[in-house]
Amino acid sequence: MGSNGQVLGITKIADAGDPKLRWNVVIVSEGYRSAEMAQFKTDADQFANTLLTTAPYDRLRKGINVYRVDVTSTDSGARDPTGCGGTGAKPKTFFDASFCTSGIRRLLVGNSGRVIKVVKNLLPQFHLSVLQVNSPVHGGSGGEVPTFSKAPNAVEIALHEMGHSAFGLADEYEYFAGCVADHGHDNHSGSEPSQPNVTTNKNRATVKWRSLIQAATAVPTTQNGNCAGCDPQPAPVPAGTVGLFEGADYFHCRVYRPEFNCRMRNLNQPFCGVCQQVIEKKLAPFLPPS
Ligand SMILES: [Zn+2]
Repeated sequence: MGSNGQVLGITKIADAGDPKLRWNVVIVSEGYRSAEMAQFKTDADQFANTLLTTAPYDRLRKGINVYRVDVTSTDSGARDPTGCGGTGAKPKTFFDASFCTSGIRRLLVGNSGRVIKVVKNLLPQFHLSVLQVNSPVHGGSGGEVPTFSKAPNAVEIALHEMGHSAFGLADEYEYFAGCVADHGHDNHSGSEPSQPNVTTNKNRATVKWRSLIQAATAVPTTQNGNCAGCDPQPAPVPAGTVGLFEGADYFHCRVYRPEFNCRMRNLNQPFCGVCQQVIEKKLAPFLPPS
């Protein structure tokens, strides 16, 4: 460990107070050479600013510390195997981040165990670490350490992946390989998913997000007329309406999401009301007394 770079240290970049009391997010650099650390500072500041101005984090910012951990790498970028159509780049980097995990080019993964070890050593009270990879290629991943590149929309990828890693949210999109390419994703099994933002229960009196559904909203709110593919219909209700929209959790039918759209369904969309409530409930204990 360490032969491909060096851990320089930790800096608090958004200060909400004592880390023993707050929710602590740590952004770690991967694939930045010593001469590129000023760029990482800029990238980390951009991440912190986007996080803290995105609902519901904007309402919770008094409970959130953001830290930056500066780690240099010998070389710039990330591995990009030719087997996935990549450039074949094989830079020597501290956390060995690589595209093409499981044969999918955009699946960008580093050595999560090594990231956790470095962060724990510098800030034992950390709650979540994210890995910023210095590559312009589109990519990212979830798991224990949400990871994202510097492609346009990369911070959006980080926000989506944090929804999985820190808050146990499900994907709200209704396909696996693709709306047309899918096989075996027409109908959900019917068993209730454990995640708070997808359901197979279409009973308005008992569905898990019933408290957010207005009496005037139809339930189900949309139904997919052709379970062989994704539902093409536009939203029949204004944005922000919570109901039951068919198609979620990688299946075209028999499973529902809370709003027509959500950051857990599409990048550059706000989190739906249910996802926002889940995040708020988890972070409320970290807020100072008002
Ligand atoms: Zn959602």
